[in-house]
Amino acid sequence: TNHNLFVALRAGFPADLDGIAVETDDGLCYSWRDLDRATAMIANLLQSLDIAPSADGVPPRVAVQVEKSVEAMLLYLATLRAGFVFLPLNTAYQSAEMEYFIGNAEPAVVVCSSKNFNWVSKLSFKAGARHVFTLDDDRTGSLLERAVHCSDQQKPANRRADELAAILYTSGTTGRSKGAMLSHGNLLSNARVLKDYWGWEKNDVLIHALPIFHVHGLFVAIHGALLNGSKMLWMGKFDPRRAIADMSRATVFMGVPTLYVRMLAEPSLNREQASHMRLFISGSAPLLLETFNDWRERTGHTILERYGMSETTMLTSNPYRADARHDNQSERRGGTVGFPLPGVELRVLGDDGKPVPVGEIGGIQVRGEGVFAGYWRMPEKTAEEFSADGFFKTGDVGQQAKNGYVTIVGRSKDLIISGGYNVYPAEIEGYLNELPGVAESALVGVPHPDFGEVGVAVVIAKPGAKLNGEDLLAELKARLANFKIPKRCFIETELPRNTMGKVQKNLLRDQHKGLFA
Ligand code: ATP
Ligand code: MG
Repeated sequence: TNHNLFVALRAGFPADLDGIAVETDDGLCYSWRDLDRATAMIANLLQSLDIAPSADGVPPRVAVQVEKSVEAMLLYLATLRAGFVFLPLNTAYQSAEMEYFIGNAEPAVVVCSSKNFNWVSKLSFKAGARHVFTLDDDRTGSLLERAVHCSDQQKPANRRADELAAILYTSGTTGRSKGAMLSHGNLLSNARVLKDYWGWEKNDVLIHALPIFHVHGLFVAIHGALLNGSKMLWMGKFDPRRAIADMSRATVFMGVPTLYVRMLAEPSLNREQASHMRLFISGSAPLLLETFNDWRERTGHTILERYGMSETTMLTSNPYRADARHDNQSERRGGTVGFPLPGVELRVLGDDGKPVPVGEIGGIQVRGEGVFAGYWRMPEKTAEEFSADGFFKTGDVGQQAKNGYVTIVGRSKDLIISGGYNVYPAEIEGYLNELPGVAESALVGVPHPDFGEVGVAVVIAKPGAKLNGEDLLAELKARLANFKIPKRCFIETELPRNTMGKVQKNLLRDQHKGLFA
């Protein structure tokens, strides 16, 4: 059988291909037949380019840096269909970054926005690309101009489950992005598990609000909807009011925590408006307990938080259905990322490489069908990040309670070792966030001559609140052991975040590294 992921996604389309598959925020509708035909045409175009696989047998890569559009999604599906490897790139990347990614991945085909064509094509051809197309978010560009001349019939390329489907560069939160090599089998197995675990239903409608250069919007959201034959309400750019308005004709929403925070700031968000919805899912960054609670209060819905990575697809999830004796949502626990998904083995190891006692904190390692084969052209890095028995070292630090719930307390790179004691940033941030007037906070370690490292807190005040760093530290001192108390506390207006809403602690560390030096 053909293990091409596209074949499985196509099999999820409803029998009636004339129904609407995607509706955009400017009122355009795409039927399932449109999806099928357009992906055939683009796949035929890609195959007609007559590109030989590289010497190592890896199929040609298609690197894509374009604004979000339905056509960009079609290009992703067409790339799978043609048996090529999809390589999405964050639209924020500028020339130095693009040069690195294109030079590293050596794509045969590059697709970019027409406004960037000049510089992207230059650096692409320099890196050996054969074709550079343009694609804009208004359905124009040379890619589509060429594809209209291709047949709308196409037989999906034969692929084994372990063959490469996509290279996803990690978000670069802790350092330079690495290309995670994901196979057709990695992606399909995870999509199937999530379809089941999150109880996708026949008439579900997904609000697609996320960017599509990242696992969350590209895989979790799109695969979920397609595999289930569900319509998507497609937002080119996230607009909280629009998302809230769309809830009356949708059932599933997926977002990063900042999207929830922005919707909570809208007065139009209320129970009635959200009453048609079945499920709200959050991931990619930690969801504050306050957001979790506020959301429940305002909408009556309990956000389901899950945890995953570019390298592993989704790993853990809070349960969709609770024990039948409870009401449906009582088992989604704020502050936790739930249970390892079916097929995921998860273990928590101490510094000595041995499993820690249940409930204690350590490094999280995982194994399973969704876990990638390795980093693109980084065999040494790959070898370092896998254990001898095939577990991937996530770089996240956390614990698994006796009842199975997993909690992430931070990343190992963000861990602070102060005077020989481990300080877990998430714990201190949790206390800071509970203090009156505090909206959010970030704790980072900076070099210190006596303690090796000490914590520095950056705190964001709630609108209208007047905060003083010294007072906040005094409050903490009354609650926590001395070695956990940050040495300094700055009040700022916002935390540096990347496009996925992840706090960039490396920037904060850089900013404050000279404080005690
Ligand atoms: P890089 O690896 O380049 O530093 P990154 O790890 O942020 O960047 P991604 O693969 O996009 O790149 O993100 C995966 C990480 O996101 C996880 O390792 C974890 O730290 C974090 N994450 C994802 N979901 C959650 C969640 N629900 N709660 C806490 N952290 C999460
Ligand atoms: Mg990472």
